[in-house]
Amino acid sequence: SSEDDFDLGEFLAEEELEGAPALPVVAVVGRPNVGKSTLVNRILGRREAVVEDVPGVTRDRVSYSAEWTGHPFTVTDTGGWEPDAKGMGRSIAVQAELAMRAADVIVVVVDATVGATSADEAVSRILRRSTVPVLLAANKVDSERAEADAAVLWSLGLGEPHTISAAHGRGTADLLDLIVAALPEKPRERFAPGGPRRVALVGKPNVGKSSLLNKLVGEERSVVDNVAGTTVDPVDELIELGGKSWHFVDTAGLRRKVRSATGHEYYASLRTRAALESAEVALLLIDASQPITEQDLRVLSMIVDSGRALVVVFNKWDLVDEDRRERLDKEIDRELERVPWARRVNISATTGRSVQKLVPAMEGALESWDRRVSTGQLNSWLKDIIAATPPPVRGGRQPRVKFATQAATRPPTFVLFTTGFLEAGYRRFLERKLRESFGFEGSPVRVNVRVRD
Ligand code: GDP
Ligand code: GDP
Repeated sequence: SSEDDFDLGEFLAEEELEGAPALPVVAVVGRPNVGKSTLVNRILGRREAVVEDVPGVTRDRVSYSAEWTGHPFTVTDTGGWEPDAKGMGRSIAVQAELAMRAADVIVVVVDATVGATSADEAVSRILRRSTVPVLLAANKVDSERAEADAAVLWSLGLGEPHTISAAHGRGTADLLDLIVAALPEKPRERFAPGGPRRVALVGKPNVGKSSLLNKLVGEERSVVDNVAGTTVDPVDELIELGGKSWHFVDTAGLRRKVRSATGHEYYASLRTRAALESAEVALLLIDASQPITEQDLRVLSMIVDSGRALVVVFNKWDLVDEDRRERLDKEIDRELERVPWARRVNISATTGRSVQKLVPAMEGALESWDRRVSTGQLNSWLKDIIAATPPPVRGGRQPRVKFATQAATRPPTFVLFTTGFLEAGYRRFLERKLRESFGFEGSPVRVNVRVRD
């Protein structure tokens, strides 16, 4: 199963795993139906990304491992949009922003048979500010005869329109050559070392995100000038807390509330994703005075998927009485069972109660997120665990865990080299033991298995 694949392992020899760098990211953006998914499939050389013929169907952004002429990279299909024109403009703007923050190369796809639409112009306007290379792909040029149509796309101001037919593979090899040529030697440094830590304040509407932001800014002071060596996006804010600067991402999105009748939630989820993408730690706000809902859990899922450190913040604690408290405890046991490792803080954004506890919680979570266990330590730990509780026999065969290494931090990611299949239950057992021995409170931990026969 795909759970057992270790992506880096496809590209790297065992001895290179430790401290293996992340792969550069190629983001494919553009308005709906221009052929983004088709192009991603073409890049992957297989039909994996969903191609949806029904306009207006939202898809989640997905990442895939790809390779061209020996150059590995990650390709992300930004997918998703809102059906109405107004909402779509916003979705595209967020997609473009997200790509500029997270990608190393951006491919913007336009439908050459339609020409430049206002949505294409909107996305181009944003991408012209990009500091990472942008390639313009003029898609659906299925024949030589159609080449000339693409010339009008020069008007987008993104340079030469590279004509392709994603569906038929026409010109896609040339485009891939250009993508690979534009890839940086090393993926960009997403989080400048030593800079202010990056925080995403997330949660469903009305849980008190903007109230908390205002409280934090009001209590201390919002740092107006840039801290030396850091650049802060205009949509972000530096806030001094506990004597240190913290980089809160996408605070503009919290201050400038967009409430549209349709697709508001979808737009909010795109924003959440964008914020998580550029953050290191997430503060998940939950309204403690109300039952935990599906919508809270959806935001939680996004955080877990993002691999960011996590602090769960129960807000509106001033409204919580004895009765509610008891019920909340039960809800936490039931609903937050997948993140027993998360740090929890109870606050009131309006009264300021316990707001100062956020800083130590974030610091602790980030310390876990950054932590590296040495290979020596890890393998002596593994030997003891396996001697005490060997993996269960499967199909008459005793799987053997030969070696473990921490392949990455942020979040801590471990690779187990085994012969024979390791059951999910045993993997979870090892993860639990890892946490018991090494902590990692506040951070997700990933355990990948590489089977060698
Ligand atoms: P997305 O919404 O941007 O991801 O677009 P899709 O990849 O889902 O493609 C939208 C539609 O355009 C689908 O019906 C595709 O089959 C079609 N399409 C994609 N690429 C091409 C192409 O190169 N030529 C033609 N003629 N159709 C294409
Ligand atoms: P957002 O949509 O998550 O940014 O939530 P807001 O900050 O706009 O807050 C939604 C509502 O909850 C507003 O009426 C706030 O005044 C109220 N609120 C926020 N925090 C608290 C709190 O700690 N206690 C109480 N009683 N109300 C709060």
